[in-house]
Amino acid sequence: MIALYPGSFDPVTYGHLDTAVRAARIFDQVVVAVFDRPNKKLLFSTEERVALMREAVQAYPTITVRAYSILTVEYAQTIGARVIVRGLRDVIDFGHEKQIAHVNQALDPEIEQVILMASPQYSFVSSSIVREVATLGGEVGTMVPAHVVRALRRKFGHAE
Ligand code: ADP
Repeated sequence: MIALYPGSFDPVTYGHLDTAVRAARIFDQVVVAVFDRPNKKLLFSTEERVALMREAVQAYPTITVRAYSILTVEYAQTIGARVIVRGLRDVIDFGHEKQIAHVNQALDPEIEQVILMASPQYSFVSSSIVREVATLGGEVGTMVPAHVVRALRRKFGHAE
């Protein structure tokens, strides 16, 4: 069974990685799909977000990374995924994830939404916090892999 794990991943964090790896323990194949045009201002381009995610999951042969720019359920249909995986950190995520799950369900009732509860050690980690801390030159090494730390330093012009 193929599962689709969609998101902006701007940039990938240990929380995203944890969700992808846990999904890979449940499903035969996990396709991490980087959404090309989310309704928010991005720090990294689609190419950069895909490259950072690819490097993060390179040790996991059943996890692949793709970019997409159509409706998530349509993309799931295209790749033959019958499951959409999302992560849930707290009650703030809950409202948002519930809405997304219901919309996806209405668009294609054949596709099941599987929501994985965030691991406690990553439940405070978000791409937006990472971007905010990194902008000011703060240490984000506990929240993102080393290659993402380097990409953030390059982006913000801080010393390596
Ligand atoms: P969005 O798709 O809403 O732009 P993200 O790309 O940041 O958001 O996240 C993609 C998915 O991963 C979402 O379901 C989000 O709730 C989940 N996620 C984000 N951070 C974490 C984390 N630290 N632990 C587990 N899941 C997470």
